[in-house]
Amino acid sequence: MEKISVKIKKKLAFCLIATLLLGVFLIGRLIYIEIFDAGFLQPLAYEQQSRDRLISPVRGSILDRNNVGIAVTESVCSVSAVPVQVIDKEETATYLCGVLDLEYDDTMEKLSKNVALVRLKSKVDMDTAQQIREKMLPGINVDEDVKRVYPFKNLAAQVIGFSGKDNQGVTGLEAKYDSYLAGKPGKILTVTDSRGVKISDEQRRIPPENGYNIVTTIDASVQRYAEQTISKAVEAKEAKRGIIIVLNPQNGEIYAMANYPDFDLNEPFKINSPELEAAWDTMTEKEKNDALNQMWRNTAINDTYEPGSTFKIVTSATGLETKAVKVDDTFTCNGYYTVGDRMIKCWRYPRTHGHETFVQGVQNSCNPVFMAVAQRIGAETFYEYMIKFGFMSKTGVDLPGEAVGIVHKLENIGPVELATMSFGQSFQITPLQLLRAASAIVNGGNLVTPHFAKYVTGEDGEIIHEFEYEKGEQVISKETSDTMRMILESVVSVGSGKKAYIPGYRLGGKTATSEKLPRKSGKYIASFMSFAPAENPQVMAIVLIDEPKGVYYGGTVAGPVMKELMENILPYFGVEPVYNEQEQEMDETKTSVVPDITGLDIKEAKKAIEDCGLTYFINGEGNTVLGQFPLTGTEVNYKSSIILTVGE
Ligand SMILES: [Zn+2]
Repeated sequence: MEKISVKIKKKLAFCLIATLLLGVFLIGRLIYIEIFDAGFLQPLAYEQQSRDRLISPVRGSILDRNNVGIAVTESVCSVSAVPVQVIDKEETATYLCGVLDLEYDDTMEKLSKNVALVRLKSKVDMDTAQQIREKMLPGINVDEDVKRVYPFKNLAAQVIGFSGKDNQGVTGLEAKYDSYLAGKPGKILTVTDSRGVKISDEQRRIPPENGYNIVTTIDASVQRYAEQTISKAVEAKEAKRGIIIVLNPQNGEIYAMANYPDFDLNEPFKINSPELEAAWDTMTEKEKNDALNQMWRNTAINDTYEPGSTFKIVTSATGLETKAVKVDDTFTCNGYYTVGDRMIKCWRYPRTHGHETFVQGVQNSCNPVFMAVAQRIGAETFYEYMIKFGFMSKTGVDLPGEAVGIVHKLENIGPVELATMSFGQSFQITPLQLLRAASAIVNGGNLVTPHFAKYVTGEDGEIIHEFEYEKGEQVISKETSDTMRMILESVVSVGSGKKAYIPGYRLGGKTATSEKLPRKSGKYIASFMSFAPAENPQVMAIVLIDEPKGVYYGGTVAGPVMKELMENILPYFGVEPVYNEQEQEMDETKTSVVPDITGLDIKEAKKAIEDCGLTYFINGEGNTVLGQFPLTGTEVNYKSSIILTVGE
């Protein structure tokens, strides 16, 4: 045996060690790829080997307070193609164009594309989808899909908002609560080779996670009634737009928020104005976007206005709370009030209100009384209460894009500014900010958070999350609040708000006529804020009519609208009329019970309503009554109007 030299031994040992080291490195690398890098590489392998088709989750519903679906999701299907698997492209294209109403050239182009998967049509109804499925066309997939539907079309359009094609909330509550509503998509995985050819029939289905529902404070019946009332008023007064908000002043729950003109949530990109629609093709993209944004805008919270005389309730409450004024203090109105070298007129100028108590001053809405009270309060304290009543901050309403008041800085409030602010001029707030302050004034003094969301619920209606809203800071004492309710009731029973007086109901409220800027342009906003019952308010509402033609006074224009609204919603909320002796003798106190007319032919329904001494208002087109408001059995005032929703 040949003796191996030391030199060779050394070489062998080196080789052995080198091989071992290389081996260890390779195994290590393999382990690294398999284990540590798997998260990165596996999806890439899937991408190569499969064509995932997404399964849309069911977007949660937006429900009213009685679980009526305002935004719901319907099951539909989507049809897609795997071009390499389609055997007879012409035949397939011809068939699909027929059933899906597609363009032939377009479809052929898609079927000839060198891509793994191409979508042909989404939101296909279930019957059509089933028809295509039964054909078993090679390379054509029919998958479950969903479609957002708004069954009441225009109902609360600017509040509910709409969602886009990709199941994403775009505006309103749809956008605000998207994280609850959206859910998570699932997938259908098909294993294919690198050319996109299916290897096996085996499909792996990862189910979607459906979204949660949002139960809101909206009452669909009250919302519809508010919309009907404001649309009639806007049309009658040829106004630019109108708003009605109805809420519970005790806890901030919003029952209705109506903006008119509105739009159909099922077609949010269709402009709602005939003039703009006619000019649509000549408009630039920017002009179109601006017009759509304007249509989607919720002016009750997104825009500010000069509140005018409804703001006098804030000046009054501040004056009483700070003891700057007492209810029986006396004032004299000469038709104007002098501040420094300025003469600021009462609305009654050149006539006067003469001698009046503070309460009579509020009933008369006499500007000099409020200017005098504000002067006694002083700019600093007045400003402090504007902050306390929430005019410098958002109300916190759960909708996107809320605006905030535009108010002078304290150092810029001189005697003239203070005087004009006392009756609601020279600053701007949102209608909802005014209602929040008014709620505090009548509910015992607490600044509530106006809101829509009550609960998040699961598929079976189980409560998953309850939204909580704090009672809010105490702005004024209970005593001041009690006094304010009494004064504001007298405004409606004997004062400037008496056009909203309803026999049997203790309503409180305040009118306003705000001149829009620039002044002397002849453009006004007529408004009316009201609440009932005065002794323990459960319902508060504001009516705003923007740029009415002809008569523009708040009391005259918005008063009757408020009366019509309250007359119908108070019985619905279970607020019973209590007549005094004088009222019992009036014809207006007669009541009637709403008959059951849902399902009837329109002619029979009209007769049944007239037989009960009531009137009607028809909503929609068709011969059958699909719904009614108020509901059957509700006791309403004689000659009240019943809204009939009709269809075929
Ligand atoms: Zn006066």
